[in-house]
Amino acid sequence: MLIRLQAIVDDRLCYEQVRELRWQEGVVCPHCGSSLYRRHGHHNSSEHRYRYSCKGCDKYYDDLTGTVFEGHHQPLKVWVLCLYLMGLNLSNRQIAQELGLSESDVHQMTTHLREGVVKKKQPIELTGVVEVDELYVVAGHKGQPKKVQQKGRKARRRRLKRQKRQRH
Ligand SMILES: [Zn+2]
Repeated sequence: MLIRLQAIVDDRLCYEQVRELRWQEGVVCPHCGSSLYRRHGHHNSSEHRYRYSCKGCDKYYDDLTGTVFEGHHQPLKVWVLCLYLMGLNLSNRQIAQELGLSESDVHQMTTHLREGVVKKKQPIELTGVVEVDELYVVAGHKGQPKKVQQKGRKARRRRLKRQKRQRH
């Protein structure tokens, strides 16, 4: 490694790149799909990570909400550099060397990045309450081995908490 790539990459430019990538058709709320928003300061992690307040659903989101860059321990510049090096057709091993990471970390990152920067929408929308009835059935007593007795019926509610996601 001749040059420490991470040292010469600017945080501000990384966020500009991400905004260009994900807001190609303008800023859109990842919760409700509304394009009406107001800027609302920045995220704690960086002054260049803009926050938005949605006028449609009143929720907040930022430049990384709903992207693969969110919720991972690597800083954004590492992801952006990884993306850049992938574009140069470097192998995972080479990228790992350039960025000073383990090959398995890079493998995970490149796998995520190949799936797209913005997380895939859930193909099936699961909302509300799904009821599961459980039927307890025991074998019949003496003399009636084939008769099946219904011992008890218990209804259990299971909440499937899945965020309702909107398809574009
Ligand atoms: Zn919204």
